Amino acid sequence: MQRLAEIIFCCETINITRPIALNFPAYFYGVILTTLFALFGCDGKRSTEEISQELATAQESGPRAVQHKYPPVGVEMKLEQVSEHVYYVQGAAGVATDNEGFISNAGFVVTDAGVVVFDALGSPSLAQALLKKIRTVTTQPIVKVIVSHFHADHIYGLQVFEDLGAEILAPRGAQLYLASEAAHSRLEERRFSLDPWVNEKTRLVIPDQLVAEEHRFSLGGVNLVVNFLGSAHSDGDMTLFVENDRVLFSGDIIFEGRVPFVGDANTRNWLTVLRQMESLQLVALIPGHGPAASNPTAAITLTRRYLEKLRGAMGDAARDLDPFEEAYAAADWGEFKHLPAFEEANRRNAYQVFLSMEIELAE
Ligand SMILES: [Zn+2]
Repeated sequence: MQRLAEIIFCCETINITRPIALNFPAYFYGVILTTLFALFGCDGKRSTEEISQELATAQESGPRAVQHKYPPVGVEMKLEQVSEHVYYVQGAAGVATDNEGFISNAGFVVTDAGVVVFDALGSPSLAQALLKKIRTVTTQPIVKVIVSHFHADHIYGLQVFEDLGAEILAPRGAQLYLASEAAHSRLEERRFSLDPWVNEKTRLVIPDQLVAEEHRFSLGGVNLVVNFLGSAHSDGDMTLFVENDRVLFSGDIIFEGRVPFVGDANTRNWLTVLRQMESLQLVALIPGHGPAASNPTAAITLTRRYLEKLRGAMGDAARDLDPFEEAYAAADWGEFKHLPAFEEANRRNAYQVFLSMEIELAE
């Protein structure tokens, strides 16, 4: 324990000292560091055991200890590492109210200069649990949160990261959602249906930056590309590509092995984006729901084919002025019938696309 306290003291002292020490000549800074290293042995060559002890301490009582401000969740949250820098947690397959709101995925990228989080889950309690998971692998600060899109299951945890000083990046279109009546009525509904995990203290977080085009940045030697997709699944969607690891966080524009909820998506733009993504040489793809894709290109292709089917069948009906019911019954859904969520989602998806195709045809 004495040894642990020394490691924490040593490393944190260096962090705290750095801004002040910059005013000193480099020589004195070096002498101070060398003395600290000599005294406490924090020479950057710590054993695995020391590192895991340090992380355990950081999680429970260290300077970056996770504050338990929100009611803990009972659902299991398992951390998966998909590549050198990338981790994610996978939400349950069912509906939000059966799973304490844990139905979407979130992930993070660990670098030597901080952590970038992708999506913030469906309640502050879930984000607090995610933060605990992050603290099992790194004590680096959370510098940014990239939000795939502003839908309830991905954003109600944002306040946890905002309170830690992270910069929140959202796709253009998020401001439309935040200003909408739907955003506020959805939060009210969730305060009721997901109590106590979503409650009066849960707030809609205003992003620090709206992204409207490709946005590249590097952190700790890891190159990251945020791709703005326009309105695909929602008013604004974006993905995060971790270039070093060739891993893509796709948000809700790809659903691995299940039928997506199309909602108010612009399926024409969505399809364009999917066709572009099929050409990327991905090592892994982490969707907004469901497991990381074992075959990323196949996952993209499945979603692309499903949307093509919807647009084909419903587009023909809209053009021929066929009633929706007849067109829906006549369409051959065979390729997708066996997929999870088909029963729950397909009919509504088809109807949404039918309505949007009528509008497209009138354009
Ligand atoms: Zn979602």
